[in-house]
Amino acid sequence: MILPKTNRLTAEQLAEITAIVTEFGCKIQPIIGAARTIYAIVGDEREELMLNRLEGLDYVDRIDRIQSPFKLMDKRSDLASHRIKVGGVTLGEELFVIAGTCTIDPKNPNYFYETAAAVKEAGAHMIRGGVWKPRTNPYTFQGDVKSLDILMEGSRRTGLPVDTEVMEEAHIKLALDAGVTSLQVGARNALNYPLLRAIGRAIAERDTVVLLKRGMHMGPISEFISAAEYIVAFGNPNIVLCPRGTAPTLDGYRNHPDESITPLLKEKTWAPVVVDPSHSVGKALYVPACALAAVAYGADGLCIEAHVSPNHGIGDDPKQALTPEVLADTIAQAKQLWALRHGAKKETKA
Ligand code: PEP
Ligand code: MN
Repeated sequence: MILPKTNRLTAEQLAEITAIVTEFGCKIQPIIGAARTIYAIVGDEREELMLNRLEGLDYVDRIDRIQSPFKLMDKRSDLASHRIKVGGVTLGEELFVIAGTCTIDPKNPNYFYETAAAVKEAGAHMIRGGVWKPRTNPYTFQGDVKSLDILMEGSRRTGLPVDTEVMEEAHIKLALDAGVTSLQVGARNALNYPLLRAIGRAIAERDTVVLLKRGMHMGPISEFISAAEYIVAFGNPNIVLCPRGTAPTLDGYRNHPDESITPLLKEKTWAPVVVDPSHSVGKALYVPACALAAVAYGADGLCIEAHVSPNHGIGDDPKQALTPEVLADTIAQAKQLWALRHGAKKETKA
């Protein structure tokens, strides 16, 4: 929609914008109002070159875009009826829970096996465990490919699918060949477009799921959804959006908790939202409340760090991980809240 600076365009100006949009296969339809005439672009108005040329005209005030910039992630796309089934759960039909250690310690695999068994017992549907880790400090433990076998052994022992972060293209193949069900894109890589493309390409013919964390420096919500669009554009729509807190603004929390963006995401896109309360608040003490808040905001699931002995964990474990007891309590309460919220929704509809 073209809004001119004047009440209506002159015949020459109209001819000029018509010539531009015609080059891109579109037409102009004037909409004559009492005080002002605006000009609808009929056709696919997303052509960047066309919009740049129109916006550059000195008699054009602005262009309002009516079509969504994300063709596939948009709630109005054909994919809106797509349902993701993983770990025995159809997302959206019951609360989906991923839980496990931040990082797998390759020297002490039993912590991971015991944690995997405990998170299953606590009611989780998928186990998480970091094989490769994006660490702020290059001298800290960076992960170890040996942990991939430990991750898969945890999966075999529990019968649950697993999620792990991939940080570069080589990790994608290794994880997929090993049998990882969910590839996690970490907050630091959420804007790494070559990686997003490589993941989309690699999973196009599979039923692999991608857990896309929200980048800690991401701004508008459209930036997050557009990152997902990069992956889905290759044909696999199993994408899960994961708010995990943005850059810290509050003393006391590790990040700025962002579970409240859940309804905003749901307004724009059909993709399920699984909130990570662990990295959001960064302290085990505050994780249960953040998890419940996420469910109250309409999240479809939770991704929680847990460890049978948090002080023996590496990575974020000692600060962030819930013990199995607290995890079990949190999951039980979250499931109750989810049922209450969704039961209430059905009653409102009836
Ligand atoms: C993690 O899940 O352990 C992790 C590093 O997450 P994020 O990318 O959200 O920091
Ligand atoms: Mn972590």
